[in-house]
Amino acid sequence: MKTIKDVFTVFKRRLGDVYDANETEALTLLVVNEISDLSKAQIKAFPEKEITVGQAESLNRIVIRLQTGEPVQYILGHTEFYGLPFKVNPSVLIPRPETEELVEWVLTSVDSSSLTDYNILDIGTGSGCIAISLKKNLPNASVSAIDISIGALETAKQNADLNKVKVDFIQDDILNSKFKIQNSKISGENNQRFEVIISNPPYVTLYDKTQMHNNVTDFEPHSALFVPEDDPLIFYKAIADFALTHLTASGLLFLEINESLGNETVELLQAKGFNSIELRKDMSGRDRMIRGIRF
Ligand code: GLN
Repeated sequence: MKTIKDVFTVFKRRLGDVYDANETEALTLLVVNEISDLSKAQIKAFPEKEITVGQAESLNRIVIRLQTGEPVQYILGHTEFYGLPFKVNPSVLIPRPETEELVEWVLTSVDSSSLTDYNILDIGTGSGCIAISLKKNLPNASVSAIDISIGALETAKQNADLNKVKVDFIQDDILNSKFKIQNSKISGENNQRFEVIISNPPYVTLYDKTQMHNNVTDFEPHSALFVPEDDPLIFYKAIADFALTHLTASGLLFLEINESLGNETVELLQAKGFNSIELRKDMSGRDRMIRGIRF
């Protein structure tokens, strides 16, 4: 590999079994951009430009990992979410574009001018992408986030520092929550604190797994993805119960959902007593998110 053009040829040949031609092209562009000081436009415009021996070695190491199906975001160690940088590693799910749409829904649902004393909780924060992008865009809100995984919480803390925001990260298992609210401002009602609770919990069933690309199932954390086939809404039940006791009256619950379980998840929230439940599709036209209001 002596020129940029050679890199594209080699990547195309070596990644042909793992990715289609468009994905390979996009990945190659991303990786060359990462290891050089060239913009994507320059990489496209100057295919004859020579790369250094060191760059060729880096590219070779990267393409070997890409051939195994390892996601490029883990190889590079970072990605973007809602226009912000995030570190990622195998203890956190790689942020998805659908989840950006959920964040957008929160931001358009709350009145940002009246957010002093406003409290938001993200359940199962992973990389921290939801909590951090909300805090970045709602600087007057207090944002807390829980996760069962210590590795995820460490990554999320690094991401809060990277994005220069303050988020309160707490270790907790929502299926067996020990979450205690401290310093509650609402006397007598000290278990109701959040105006917004949001979650993108695990929702992938074993059946869904058979339909997924191996770069998700072989590399991303199973605890962030999979649910038992016989109880796919296990996290939604726990989150809804938690939200009933931890949302303020008229507080909002936002959930990312399994596209095949839209109606079931709406019915679950109805049965728990949430009001004004709205199911929304993502940019691919799939049922992907729900908003409900606590009675
Ligand atoms: N949307 C993710 C995927 O399809 C799953 C995220 C989740 O389980 N919360 O890989």
